[in-house]
Amino acid sequence: MNAGRIVNARLLPSPTDTVNPPLIPLPGRFAISWSNGAIERVAPQPDGTISADDNVIDAAGALLLPALVDAHLHPDLAFSRETVLPNRSGTLAEAISHWAAAKRELTPDGVHERARRCFDAEWRGGTGTIRAHVDVGSAAGLRLLEGVAAAAAEFRDRIRIQIVAFPQDGLIRDPEAEANLRAAMRAGCTLVGGIPHVERSPADSRAHLKIVFDVAAEHNAEIDVHVDETDDPNSRCTEMLTELTIERGWQGRVTASHVCALASYPEEYARRVIARVAEARIRVVTNPGVNLHLQGRGDGYPRRRGLTRVRDLLDAGVPCAAGQDCIRDPFYPIGNGRLLDQAFLLVHAEHMDSDRRMRTALEMVTGMAADVVGAGAQRVAVGEPADLALFAVGDAVQLLSDRPAPMLVVHAGCIAVGASTGVPAVVTLRS
Ligand SMILES: [Zn+2]
Repeated sequence: MNAGRIVNARLLPSPTDTVNPPLIPLPGRFAISWSNGAIERVAPQPDGTISADDNVIDAAGALLLPALVDAHLHPDLAFSRETVLPNRSGTLAEAISHWAAAKRELTPDGVHERARRCFDAEWRGGTGTIRAHVDVGSAAGLRLLEGVAAAAAEFRDRIRIQIVAFPQDGLIRDPEAEANLRAAMRAGCTLVGGIPHVERSPADSRAHLKIVFDVAAEHNAEIDVHVDETDDPNSRCTEMLTELTIERGWQGRVTASHVCALASYPEEYARRVIARVAEARIRVVTNPGVNLHLQGRGDGYPRRRGLTRVRDLLDAGVPCAAGQDCIRDPFYPIGNGRLLDQAFLLVHAEHMDSDRRMRTALEMVTGMAADVVGAGAQRVAVGEPADLALFAVGDAVQLLSDRPAPMLVVHAGCIAVGASTGVPAVVTLRS
């Protein structure tokens, strides 16, 4: 079961094999075979040895990558733009306010339908793993989670989906959310979420984070919190997160999402926070499209870019990923679920333009992103999951430039036929 073979594929060198991984593929072409959902063999493909076996896929020189990983997505919000009041200021605050009013009326069935569209768009773009944040605040209850969980179950043979229980409106400002957070974890959510910077004071932000760590300890779960998603240099929740991570012994089990205020801190303080993030072994997710869009709204010119200090975090040894975050909702009016677009934006917003930096931008939606969400450092290598995406490009520069839909996606060893064929079926090639 779940076996197959691709021949004539081009492969990028593993970033772990070299200090400065090039963007051009390894010389020659490769044959990759897998069974039981794991890669069994990766070998150079001698010329003229393509088998006539129908079960072999001829990649014809296309570039084979690990399937993409979206480390931060809100499927409960996706495609809600048409149903929520327009965000006239474009700010995070107005988006949260409109979403707060709209979500009281949402039904599990409606959320299910939009989450399904969202997962379908991601899968067709080559995504094999998603970390989904789902609102469990008092206005949302568990209705949004019910809808997303139903859609996730439908896609389980195409995408690995982790669900973060996310108290969107806070835990101190919205005290009923704490019970929902616990109920959501009991209902099977994978991670405990949070958003400490929306609380009214630093003391409340700290109290919020303490609840997050308490619930995580009760369920032996990892944590992924939205933190300091603001330009305000006085928003200091990332430092609190590092302190609590070390105090509670949760090193290596915490992800900080957004971390925008880090880019507005005074230099000395920013350096201290980056060092503390590395010490606490916290991983960071930036969301380039959404952060470019939402942040800097209060600035004249020069206007801040809104992203966290990705290059400095990477240079300090902090694993980082780039997520889609939102698709056509009150927070972000556009988006298509294609993660290569996020890597493309990252190249611009963080000046990741050297070969090494561009390769890292790609890693932030593939191998390093897999590491960030705990899906293993996925590579096209023996023993790794057979989660693969095949792109009709010659090298990584063309991939980042053209950002095509994949020709083919392999998930846990099954072939999910790519969007270019127009056939959304999942078939197993060999048994
Ligand atoms: Zn988010």
